[in-house]
Amino acid sequence: MTTYPSHYINGQWIKAQSAETLPVHDSSTEEVMATVPAGTAQEAERAVLAARAAFDAWAALPVETRAAYLDKVAAGLKARTDEMALTIAREVGMPLKMARAVQVGGPTWHWSNFAKIARNFEWEKKVGNSLVVREPIGVVGCITPWNFPLSQITLKVAPALAAGCTVVLKPSEIAPVNAMILAEIIHEAGLPPGVFNLVNGMGPVVGEVLATHPEVDMVSFTGSTRAGKRVSELASQSVKRVALELGGKSASVILDDADMEAAVKGTISACMLNSGQTCSAHTRMLVPAGRYDEVKALAKTAIAKFSVGPSLEETSKLGPLVSANQRDRVLGFIRTGIEEGADVIAGGDQLPAFEKGYFVQPTILGIKATDTLAQEEIFGPVLVVIPYKDEEEAVAIANSTIYGLGGGVWSGSDDHAMKVARRIRTGQVDINGGPFNANAPFGGYKQSGNGREAGVYGFEEFLELKSLQLKPVAAA
Ligand code: NAD
Repeated sequence: MTTYPSHYINGQWIKAQSAETLPVHDSSTEEVMATVPAGTAQEAERAVLAARAAFDAWAALPVETRAAYLDKVAAGLKARTDEMALTIAREVGMPLKMARAVQVGGPTWHWSNFAKIARNFEWEKKVGNSLVVREPIGVVGCITPWNFPLSQITLKVAPALAAGCTVVLKPSEIAPVNAMILAEIIHEAGLPPGVFNLVNGMGPVVGEVLATHPEVDMVSFTGSTRAGKRVSELASQSVKRVALELGGKSASVILDDADMEAAVKGTISACMLNSGQTCSAHTRMLVPAGRYDEVKALAKTAIAKFSVGPSLEETSKLGPLVSANQRDRVLGFIRTGIEEGADVIAGGDQLPAFEKGYFVQPTILGIKATDTLAQEEIFGPVLVVIPYKDEEEAVAIANSTIYGLGGGVWSGSDDHAMKVARRIRTGQVDINGGPFNANAPFGGYKQSGNGREAGVYGFEEFLELKSLQLKPVAAA
């Protein structure tokens, strides 16, 4: 077990004020693998003031200097890939091989990519007699969740730093160890004191200081819609910019002319990644009513390949859920579905046979569009299948939740799929299983949020616009 006694403030590891610690559990064994300190409001404020003091000098550095720091962080992450992958496989529960690629490889790439984006960015543009310049917004408070912890930290901290902002990070209290390793890497990269700060702790204590503090210019939040609303309310008092990346209930719309086998397989994969603990997971599969039995048979075959097991076992395709709370929440949803009359196509509420670990069976339930599970974000390995009568109804069902994050459309023709995709009110739609694009904007419509992350779109979120009006040069 590793004990982390300190927060990272103003370029130093500062011993925590309070003796209270937060345990981090290995999701497969339930052991306490580490503890981090429960930060206080004073520690959060101290970090904010350090970030404020560091801002002017950091913002004034040449872009190339900042970009070079980001490249150093990427190199540091690359060098510690094994340790980071093992940490995330344990604290989140994603199988190790996949954690290495998705949870570490992805973020490492993003650190270099944001360096590249900053270098190539058009920082100034002439518009009539104005020079429009882009400037860093200032001090950014970053609040992140546990499901893709390093990724979510990276998609905020890396573009913010590249843009010239300084940062206070409050990582998830459930999976914070990866953040501690990242802070060590950032420290070794030699960033000036105060540019990056990390305070561990609970959302209502440390997170709320970031949301309310007048010296924080922007809060970038990823997490549940419930906590996002609270952050937004608090932040409105100081009119800071708020970027929210929240929950989802994304639909995979399978049209009648689709390759059913590919569509069902693709949807199940897009639902089950990280045991369904993915905000943009395709958790509703909408199928033509007349094809329901065929889809059911295909789904049973496809789900059988998702073997459940501890995250460090080679053969595990699905790991446990992150915590006992999350497991109980997901089981509660499965039970509600069954009580409301769901057709249990696979899985169910019985626990898989493991002595330890927060495991849930991958579950597929046939339900009606009006059922609870058609609306609520479950955040576990649970796919619901909802029949529709025609394309109009499919689009209406796809758009019928409070969320609007992701989704997919499957059809024999890409054009047909695109026509339907344009009617879906979400930030991303995959056409016939089109692969994830790490430079494309990621974010939500409706209550899935209002920010965009990744690529140049995610970078621009951390910039202000200023226009300088020049006097036209008199004609000679
Ligand atoms: P959560 O909302 O419980 O916690 C997220 C973060 O917010 C944590 O760091 C937490 O400590 C903090 N927090 C909680 N209450 C707070 C408050 N009152 N003030 C300030 N901060 C507060 O979410 P979670 O359980 O960690 O993550 C799962 C949720 O995140 C799911 O709903 C998922 O869909 C969403 N998510 C969204 C995206 C996206 O990009 N849209 C990505 C990943 C996860």
